[in-house]
Amino acid sequence: MSILVVGSIALDTVETPHGKVKDALGGSALYFSAVASLFNPVNMVGVVGADFNLQSIDFLKKRSVNLDGLEQMGGETFRWGGRYHEDINLRDTLFTELNVFQDFRPTIPEHYQNDAFIFLANIDPELQLEVLAQLKKPRLVVLDTMNFWISGKPEALNRLISKIDVLIVNNEEIQQLTGKANIFAGAEELLQRGPQAIVIKKGEHGAVLNDPNGYFLAPAFPVSRVVDPTGAGDSFAGGFLGYLSTCPEINHEQLRKAVVYGSVAASFTVEDFSLNRLERLSKSDIDERVENYRNMICF
Ligand code: AMP
Repeated sequence: MSILVVGSIALDTVETPHGKVKDALGGSALYFSAVASLFNPVNMVGVVGADFNLQSIDFLKKRSVNLDGLEQMGGETFRWGGRYHEDINLRDTLFTELNVFQDFRPTIPEHYQNDAFIFLANIDPELQLEVLAQLKKPRLVVLDTMNFWISGKPEALNRLISKIDVLIVNNEEIQQLTGKANIFAGAEELLQRGPQAIVIKKGEHGAVLNDPNGYFLAPAFPVSRVVDPTGAGDSFAGGFLGYLSTCPEINHEQLRKAVVYGSVAASFTVEDFSLNRLERLSKSDIDERVENYRNMICF
């Protein structure tokens, strides 16, 4: 069962208390695909500029990520810069250069249009709406976004939220989206807007699932050396939707397990800069950590 992702492919410049990388591989679609492809084949749609070295993502092809939907345009690749504080949960965006994304119109190749599991990764919500309109029979549509679009394109984002199944946000985003300081009140309000489930990522404090069956609270897998949290959210989504794509039926129990797979996937990403840890990650690494996790939360 293939998974479709449309999102950013980036060259990131990131500074954390553990060091700095410049023009390193990043972007929501890459982090997501690196994880989700450990569960099922992934079809990726995105754009890079003429300056992007396509060989740098060869490892994804080996993991059955289909890149037919990856366009290379003249101009520069999307670039993002961020700096993390000593408290690594806090980050400042230093710059967002849309570059080729400015003129990008996502075209979903015909052989992707019947995909059932869809991740609308963090890009312009107007583009995310265009993607949805091209899909024939999505079974589960998961949406991610970020503060840049919540403030920049609120109307498109609101339209989108009413059309999707699962919304993944962090605590700042939920407050920005709903105006509610209390994340649980925010989640309950968002559920009224159409999605079947809301997932709130709380960094080192774990994740919360809210759906009509109630709440599920998942602690983060303990990582004692967080080198670079960039992409943790997209890797979370990769584990979350990757796991769900293996389930014959999607219900509250499966959503709970998916949150655990998401949390575990994110715990690997943060152990190194960029996609470095994910390049070396295997499905059995994930399964082993899920088992450890189970032992840690059992009482
Ligand atoms: P996360 O840490 O999960 O929020 O994801 C960070 C990734 O999102 C980085 O690799 C960035 O390249 C990418 N990113 C940052 N800002 C944007 C944006 N406005 N649109 C799309 N992708 C972005």
